[in-house]
Amino acid sequence: MTVNLLDFDAAGLEAFFAEQGEKAFRARQVLRWMHRFGQSDFDAMTDIAKSLREKLKRIATIVPPAIVSDRLSDDGTRKFLFDVGGGNAVETVFIPEDDRGTLCVSTQAGCALDCSFCSTGKQGFNRNLTVAEIIGQLWQANRALGADPAGERIISNVVLMGMGEPLANFENSVTALRLMLDDNAYGLSRRRVTVSTSGLVPVMDRLRDECPVALAVSLHAPNDALRDELVPINRKYPLRELMAACQRYLEKAPRDFVTFEYVMLDGVNDSDDHARQLLALTHDVPCKFNLIPFNPFPGSPYRRTPSPRIRRFAEILMNAGVVTTTRKTRGDDIDAACGQLAGQVRDKTRRASNRVIDIHEARSR
Ligand code: SAH
Ligand code: SF4
Repeated sequence: MTVNLLDFDAAGLEAFFAEQGEKAFRARQVLRWMHRFGQSDFDAMTDIAKSLREKLKRIATIVPPAIVSDRLSDDGTRKFLFDVGGGNAVETVFIPEDDRGTLCVSTQAGCALDCSFCSTGKQGFNRNLTVAEIIGQLWQANRALGADPAGERIISNVVLMGMGEPLANFENSVTALRLMLDDNAYGLSRRRVTVSTSGLVPVMDRLRDECPVALAVSLHAPNDALRDELVPINRKYPLRELMAACQRYLEKAPRDFVTFEYVMLDGVNDSDDHARQLLALTHDVPCKFNLIPFNPFPGSPYRRTPSPRIRRFAEILMNAGVVTTTRKTRGDDIDAACGQLAGQVRDKTRRASNRVIDIHEARSR
């Protein structure tokens, strides 16, 4: 059986090489070839002895997930769809801006957490992505975007904000994060790599201890009654515990604030009073707010809050001194906006199988 070397971070690759009687620096050389230079052909790794290359060809492969579609939006946003086998596919979005290029990466095929406004959640859950499938999205996007290892970075920031809940696939997400941060691989700064979570409190503590990066928390409601409805994991980890976990996270985080994401749902969570409740709730947590205009998907029960109401909501937060941005909706002409990532998921939970079929039909038309 061959192993896929994209499944290893530096420590894992060194351990694999040690098992083969090979030195650690050889592992680091191969790591650089794979990730810094985007090489998947052992024969091209010219500073590795031919005998070792031949051996690696027998026991190992370098296989990222295959790109099944690659679409460019009018605003420059680019969406990749990856085949991850078994009838499942996940999406990755590249968002170019003046001062950075952000890649939004998926961590699961589907998601078990079933937030009421999320297309991925409505499809149900199939499985966790492997490390090779998570880091392979960055590997493939770099290649497709024509990244030059000697030139300026095209992908300067990564957010684990695509399909799935990264902290529900902790081990694989963290191994992929380590590769993003590793100077022999992608060499990104911890401040430019963000994990977005709906609030798995105990795992937030693990992330802080094992691999602290920038943190975004999907809040979406200022009180438990409403959040229980929108983000069902709140019933297990209510707001008081979530706020305490954010404070603990900041003790070791590379940034001194948490970003709270807040999807704007017309008439549901967007009143002046909701904004004031939010200020009270987050009073003791250094934070910024990122308001996300709701992006509809087939069968979704909500409407987007109108722009003047979003502005008013933002104003209340800002007047209290909290930095608040409103996310530009980008890529919606190719269904690449937040919460529209549907990919293709064979639901193992059978929760929303009818809906999944609807989405597939809508997409294939
Ligand atoms: N599971 C993680 C990361 C993936 S979701 C999390 O929930 O944080 C990424 C972001 O998109 C989250 O803030 C999520 O709440 C938001 N989102 C989901 N569905 C959306 C929709 N239909 N419109 C706008 N944002 C949405
Ligand atoms: Fe899962 Fe995040 Fe969607 Fe909730 S918002 S269902 S946690 S992907």
